[in-house]
Amino acid sequence: MIAIFYENGDPSVKKDRTEWFDCACNSYDHAIRFSLTHWNEGPELTVEAVFPQYLPWYKRCWIALKYIFKRDSAGISVYDTWIMKKEDAERLQSLLQAFTKP
Ligand SMILES: [Zn+2]
Repeated sequence: MIAIFYENGDPSVKKDRTEWFDCACNSYDHAIRFSLTHWNEGPELTVEAVFPQYLPWYKRCWIALKYIFKRDSAGISVYDTWIMKKEDAERLQSLLQAFTKP
């Protein structure tokens, strides 16, 4: 089923929507957020991920120095894994349908 939200009962104005999805591992540090925004040019879907890196202060200083002098990618990974929960699939599917069938 497609969830379509209208503001003030006006079917020509579609409501923006944000959905958070926690990782199946239940870590508080793994989460994905999908945001559906309706612009005049059409809908836009953005994806944001939260994977904080907690390093000791001296490692963060070393990374900062390498970053300042553009030595390399500073040796840190900005990627991690997010595993979708099966029960969230329908909610994501609903959001994608609202994006593709405005
Ligand atoms: Zn996880």
